[in-house]
Amino acid sequence: MLVDGYGRKVDYLRVSVTERCNFRCQYCMPEKPFSWVPKENLLTYEELFKFIKVGIDEGITKVRITGGEPLLREGLENFVKMIADYKEDIDLALTTNAYLLPQAAQKLSDAGLKRINVSLDSLKDEVAEKIAQKDVLKTVLKGIQAATDAGLKVKVNCVPMQGVNDNELIDILEYCKEKGYPVRFIEYMENQHATDVAKGLNSAQIQDIIRKKYNFTKLERSGSSPSQDYKTEDGYVFGIIEPHKDDFCATCNRIRLTASGVLIPCLYFEDAQSIKDAIQENDIDKAAAILKNVLANKPEKNKWNDEDGDAVTSTRAFYETGG
Ligand code: SAM
Repeated sequence: MLVDGYGRKVDYLRVSVTERCNFRCQYCMPEKPFSWVPKENLLTYEELFKFIKVGIDEGITKVRITGGEPLLREGLENFVKMIADYKEDIDLALTTNAYLLPQAAQKLSDAGLKRINVSLDSLKDEVAEKIAQKDVLKTVLKGIQAATDAGLKVKVNCVPMQGVNDNELIDILEYCKEKGYPVRFIEYMENQHATDVAKGLNSAQIQDIIRKKYNFTKLERSGSSPSQDYKTEDGYVFGIIEPHKDDFCATCNRIRLTASGVLIPCLYFEDAQSIKDAIQENDIDKAAAILKNVLANKPEKNKWNDEDGDAVTSTRAFYETGG
């Protein structure tokens, strides 16, 4: 079992397989970065898998593949199969923008993927295009349907932004409700890579909008999810993720691995260590020791707010860490 310096059990590993993305979302990667990490600096699937095995052997029970856009990396279904075959009951999930799912969903499901989280910020063609800077919506909706048809469980993530999609939150909630997908609204997280125009809605503002049509109650927190869930009177559960708070840190169970082998103990904490050399030297003991050291240094709470409680603008790009 993996336990961090504050006695928290860590059993969830998020693995980014690429920082590249085929969307240019305003809040994440509005412009193609000046330079990508060169392909030769990325860990191969075999190397990422070598570290995932270390994690699973030590107590990881849940792996989420993310990016950038993970479906851009060729052969993703082979990577999924490696992990699924290693541990049959692994909770294996993917976070994607769904654009390439029409052709990939069935292959991923056959390879052993169980669940996907899809980003869906608008149900209007022109708004989705404004956010992603590409005409994406029809293909995204086809991709979500393809995932459902392939037997994958779907959850939806939406980042509400002022003057962009804030008039669509009820439509998005109702689309998800009708399809049976839980939706989670994520407060926009300030980072240096987003456009200046991106301004998020906070939880209270999101709740005010939904309350215009639905009465709902706040549910007790359970498990390790950062989402605060709410239940509408007619029984639909939706969530809001408030990263500017730290009330979910006490039960945090996750660590993150980037595509170039950097192991990050907390999304909102600059510290991290590389497992790349250890894995490439096939030094499994060293990789396991780095994993334990990173856990020993996992902060008690995120460092998202400064001492005055104001949000800090992160220098880390979400497309590097996988969100
Ligand atoms: N390309 C995939 C996708 O679109 O879901 C996976 C990577 S993306 C970085 C993972 C998640 O991070 C998405 O749900 C996205 O909405 C979220 N995200 C990215 N930048 C964010 C920001 N500045 N604030 C809040 N959420 C953000």
